[in-house]
Amino acid sequence: MGNTAIVGINWGDEGKGRMVDLLTEQYDVVVRYQGGGNAGHTVINEYGKFALHLLPSGIFHKGVVNILGNGVALDPENLWKEIEDVQSKGIRVTPENLKISDRASLLLPWHRELDGLEEARLKDKKYGSTQQGIAPFYSDKHQKKTILAGELLHPEHLKEHLADLLEWKNLTITRVYDKEPVSARDLQQWFDTWCRQIQPFICDTGVFLRKAQAEGKGILFEAQLGALRDLDYGIYPYTTSSNTISAYAPIGSGLPAAKLDAVVGVVKAYSTCVGEGPFVSEMFGPEAEALRSAGFEYGAKTGRPRRVGALDLVATRYGVQVQAATAIALTKLDVLSYMERIPVCTKYLVDGQPTDEFPFPTQLAGAKPVIEYLEGWNCDISRIRRWDDLPEAARRYVTYLEQQIGCPIAYVSVGPERESIILR
Ligand code: GDP
Repeated sequence: MGNTAIVGINWGDEGKGRMVDLLTEQYDVVVRYQGGGNAGHTVINEYGKFALHLLPSGIFHKGVVNILGNGVALDPENLWKEIEDVQSKGIRVTPENLKISDRASLLLPWHRELDGLEEARLKDKKYGSTQQGIAPFYSDKHQKKTILAGELLHPEHLKEHLADLLEWKNLTITRVYDKEPVSARDLQQWFDTWCRQIQPFICDTGVFLRKAQAEGKGILFEAQLGALRDLDYGIYPYTTSSNTISAYAPIGSGLPAAKLDAVVGVVKAYSTCVGEGPFVSEMFGPEAEALRSAGFEYGAKTGRPRRVGALDLVATRYGVQVQAATAIALTKLDVLSYMERIPVCTKYLVDGQPTDEFPFPTQLAGAKPVIEYLEGWNCDISRIRRWDDLPEAARRYVTYLEQQIGCPIAYVSVGPERESIILR
């Protein structure tokens, strides 16, 4: 127990949602510490199938307190729609089991609009944004040009602050992008519609977390996306605009002095990457199509087909290191069951030279994968629940990965359902 972070080791979509859903049972508090509604965690449990974008995955567990920390991009409109969706399927969401940090900044309607306008301006050089407003939001946060959730509790102050922001933002909308300015009326209407709904959930979550910590409660820190999308350590500029790595969990959660006792890094048994950017071990043609359909690799937020490839050991080793992972959860091993032999990318060739080290982002575009093959197992493993019952070739694949990435694989997932897991 103690403080545990669950993080992505690669480009995201590793199956973090299903791991948080599984592990939450052992924790009292689940905190989202970065990102916004730009990615989706898929969770399948007794209530149905959910693609959570902002809500922490602990929302399905009775007695667990879920927190949206100061580091998240708090989009009131999408958050409220998500709360309503989850509630319509029988899950209670109340100020007792969901708390929003008063220090979380608000993602405003113009952030989404500006995201779309900038991607359109970039044309074929676009970053592949999900157009949820994340990059404009984080730039404004760092320019101190957005609203803190706690300001919703101080209406007079909020009114004045919003008027100042509106004047400033309309300069960009009209002069840079040549679009109609946002009206004060529309903005107010948006606040009245969406922000009023989330107001009861807003509080000083730092006080709550410090108390929980002092009482020895178990806290789970939930990340969005993966190490290779981290703003500082990922494949810049094809990164997200926040820090996805575990080191940021204390800062973005509201417990800056917290020490992490464990970091569970989630790795998929093969590689996928949604959107633009270099992807060295990418597969193409029928080989890619077969893997994409076996793994049902379509974005949880956008439905976009994900790019797929051989498990990239160079990127994964790097991800394990920057995440400071203490244990790995390997997901989707069942998806590889159809393969006669399984490709893995063991090294890169950069300027013709073999390397084990993840290169500087600019060099990635020209890097070539060195592919080796491991024997497949060619049988259904989705009902297996014990390590010893896995076919020998599957165990060899897992132990080989473990040696290559330098971190113990503690969980092997063989299906999307909560119980489809092998503990080692
Ligand atoms: P996240 O953002 O990291 O939570 O990942 P996503 O939810 O975007 O993608 C993971 C997808 O794989 C979801 O559709 C999960 O239901 C599914 N999934 C997770 N673990 C397994 C597994 O072990 N086997 C199979 N077949 N599907 C899995």
